[in-house]
Amino acid sequence: MAGGPPNFLHMVPLCVRCSQPAVAVMRYNYAARSVSLEPLVHVPSPGAGYLMCARHADRVMPPVGWGRVDRRRLFVVTGLKR
Ligand SMILES: [Zn+2]
Repeated sequence: MAGGPPNFLHMVPLCVRCSQPAVAVMRYNYAARSVSLEPLVHVPSPGAGYLMCARHADRVMPPVGWGRVDRRRLFVVTGLKR
């Protein structure tokens, strides 16, 4: 029988911009005046970060005067560091 969408779809994190599956989390770091992009390891609590697909994460532009920290690649390096 045809049913509605499977329940697990509610658990797939989606990009806040385009509703594609998210791969990164964008966070505003007010103290450091920077926007960070981190690999999506766990879904942030509401208001703690913004889910982004790869395309939109690449397009993130920080506010004027702010920096942009992309940890999506650094994460791999950090993992190998001793
Ligand atoms: Zn997107």
